[in-house]
Amino acid sequence: MVGRDVILYLKGLTKTFAGHKAVDAIDLEIHEGELFTIVGPSGSGKTTLLRMLAGMEEPTSGDIILRGERINAIPANKRPTCMVFQSLALFPHKEVGANIEFPLKIRGVAPAARKQRALELMGLLRLPESYYGRSVTQISGGERQRVALARALAFDPEILFFDEPLSALDYKLRKTLEKELKDIHRETRKTFVYITHSLEEAMVMSDRIGVMRDGKLVQIGSPQEIYSTPNSKFVSEFIGDVNVMPVTVADNGTLTSPQIPGEFAAPSIADGLRDGFLVVRPEYLRFLSEPGDADNHVPGRLYNEYALGSRIQYHVRVGEMTFVLEKLRHEAFQGKLDQEVLIGWNAADSIVVPDQ
Ligand code: ATP
Repeated sequence: MVGRDVILYLKGLTKTFAGHKAVDAIDLEIHEGELFTIVGPSGSGKTTLLRMLAGMEEPTSGDIILRGERINAIPANKRPTCMVFQSLALFPHKEVGANIEFPLKIRGVAPAARKQRALELMGLLRLPESYYGRSVTQISGGERQRVALARALAFDPEILFFDEPLSALDYKLRKTLEKELKDIHRETRKTFVYITHSLEEAMVMSDRIGVMRDGKLVQIGSPQEIYSTPNSKFVSEFIGDVNVMPVTVADNGTLTSPQIPGEFAAPSIADGLRDGFLVVRPEYLRFLSEPGDADNHVPGRLYNEYALGSRIQYHVRVGEMTFVLEKLRHEAFQGKLDQEVLIGWNAADSIVVPDQ
């Protein structure tokens, strides 16, 4: 399990480019051995933040504290950290083995010991031993990514920073490597800090996720917390499909929406929130036989259905709005397109959040 010791502490970390705050007063504690992912849309400041942590960009203000020591002014090559890039910075004219051994060579490790360590790392990264003498131009993109990771691990850094390492790979390979990376994290017990614009990628791998928007961390939590209890419409919409309706909290505590007629039973709502957004995940919406089968019910029309492998997604039109429902394939809803349906959800399976 993840230790609770703080390895990296950021205090008011800020980077300004020509008056624009790319990273805006970030406070964050990263724990020893955790896989922490920073996720956010393009331009939200992820790369700038990671480059400051790795020593490739100087902060405008704030502190970066590694195990209690302020490292703002320490250059990248003097820090006990290592960056793994999306654009693979491998030596193209060298073999797999020589690439992985490079950090050991510059430290003066003897050839036999270097080779032994390279082969160990290749085993960890599931690269066949026969690749040791092969040029990195003669292996696939996914294999090159593994070589890059093996080389980063050969540095034996305290923290590995990953800058969207999987984004250039095709979908299937990316899905495989997401899981492999999590396995490697488990086996090495190193601290990994990972950035991606894909919250889905972050969900698969991370111990904790920080969601970035406009240079700020707007929510930090476990994948489960980010998914089930997003603190804003922005975070809730950042992963997968979700049903989001503008709502007003009435004096009697029920919800009304300009988009849907009727009143809805509300979940517990943060004090003082009067106007917000009702969020219901597709798996919590159900087709009802009777209105009383759920706390809230809405009549609609089955518009379409989509096979998503083990699940089926249904779109139900209610006035101008489309609700998204998902069911496991073996529990598929037997309906016809354009059929009138009744859908609903329980108040406890929904949340009301502010816009930001
Ligand atoms: P992406 O997912 O597209 O890589 P990002 O979240 O990593 O985006 P950054 O690359 O950190 O975002 O950029 C954050 C903001 O800072 C953007 O508005 C960007 O234009 C600006 N920015 C980044 N680097 C510089 C620079 N060297 N000079 C000026 N502005 C910059």
